[in-house]
Amino acid sequence: DPVILWFRQDLRLADQAALAAAVQEGPVIPVYVLDDQAPRQWKMGGASRWWLHHSLKSLDENLREKGSRLILRQGNCIDQIVQIAEETGARRVHALHHYEPWWRNAEKSLVKRLELCLHDGALLLPPGAVRTGEGNSYRIYTPFARAVMEHMPPAEPVRAPSRIDAPGRWPKSDSLDRWGLLPTKPDWARAFSRDWTPGEAGARANVAAFLDQVADYDRARNLPSQEGSSRLSPHLHFGEVSPAYVWRRVAGAPGDATTFLKELIWRDYAHTQIWAMPAYGSENARPAFDAMPWRDLREAGADFKAWKTGRTGYPIVDAGMRQLWTTGWMHNRVRMIAASFLIKHLLIDWRHGARWFWDTLVDASYANNSVNWQWVAGSGVDANIFSRIMAPLTQSGKFDAADYIRAWVPELAHLNDDIIHDPEAHDARSSDYPAKCIGHREGRERALAAWRGIRP
Ligand code: FAD
Repeated sequence: DPVILWFRQDLRLADQAALAAAVQEGPVIPVYVLDDQAPRQWKMGGASRWWLHHSLKSLDENLREKGSRLILRQGNCIDQIVQIAEETGARRVHALHHYEPWWRNAEKSLVKRLELCLHDGALLLPPGAVRTGEGNSYRIYTPFARAVMEHMPPAEPVRAPSRIDAPGRWPKSDSLDRWGLLPTKPDWARAFSRDWTPGEAGARANVAAFLDQVADYDRARNLPSQEGSSRLSPHLHFGEVSPAYVWRRVAGAPGDATTFLKELIWRDYAHTQIWAMPAYGSENARPAFDAMPWRDLREAGADFKAWKTGRTGYPIVDAGMRQLWTTGWMHNRVRMIAASFLIKHLLIDWRHGARWFWDTLVDASYANNSVNWQWVAGSGVDANIFSRIMAPLTQSGKFDAADYIRAWVPELAHLNDDIIHDPEAHDARSSDYPAKCIGHREGRERALAAWRGIRP
């Protein structure tokens, strides 16, 4: 009998334990189901859909080189897989474990209908693999990272099989182009393909290109004006490379890779948190924050819009928000500054910001996005305390963001390094650039007053 290989956020052929197991058993039916119901409010956002389109296209091409192909279906993922099983006589499904709450629910339902074999490989270590002395899963990053390190390096990644046997008859498949995953009018993603090559080959090329930069990562990753980080986040999110493969390659590169490897462990940490608390994306991990007097969007709507469109009057924040819109990605340091500005200076609930990121990031990840937003807000399990308020203008100078601002805020491109971080303070703001939507001190005081009221 043929077996079903269910692809989700693991769109690769190498180091894919579900594929490796499936080819041992017989002909394989590789399937991807676009299910917009199961995730409910976490249905894939616009930028992710752009990525998905290209990644599926590349996966299908790679499968065809091995004598196989990708079957596409849309609708309830359980119903679709059961239907394929009925059409083809398959009884067994191989897939990788995923930890988003909707995937775990789907796994629970599918296991009642078919034989489901789940494999590890989406993370360095499965959640719960490392435990505290009391036997609990870790809630704090630092001891978690230390414990993970003891199990590293991960096992040697497995190569893609040389051939994947096809079933006697293929079940029917949707056409990718008809899914409408790409934007049409306006085509807000037109610049994405300048920066990104979704798919396994693009992912591996990114890893290879990063190897020369590993030695300088510790310094350069914090500087938005330089390309100092790996830009692997969307590739990792869609599973076009395994984290084990990234670990092995980077750890073997010249220079000390420790800082980078610890960032990669943040990804495991975030997934462990959503595994322990599935509502992490919608509920404060610290309930004291439920009483936070966030501003209502009816009153704060104009500020929220200024933030989304990169017109807050804070050049570093605006540069980041425009980079996000144009390229589907934002530098990590600037993500922290922009998120902090929304939550604290504008006193807008982190969940509104997280939603916007969800829709606009090509690397939008339920775990990484929720955990990082709650980290910035101070409402997370392991979090920055709310009263430590980042000063965006100081951060901008400290991390040398002048060229970054020039690249993303053309209205300010003519200003020199001393002025560009805060043109308003130097009377150098041009008329086409907005005034600050709130003063730094004023925003800070309002945030602190709100926080004092809840005293977590
Ligand atoms: P590198 O610095 O090269 O890091 C390598 C990899 O490690 C990344 O690709 C990523 O998979 C992982 N990583 C690095 N930093 C973190 C982190 N803080 N938390 C979890 N994993 C990390 N990352 C996402 O992948 N998806 C998101 O939706 C997301 N939302 C974020 C929201 C906010 C408010 C903040 C502050 C951060 C968010 N991040 C998110 C984390 C981080 O900003 C990105 O992973 C990073 O900028 C991606 O660029 P890179 O691949 O060049 O990173």
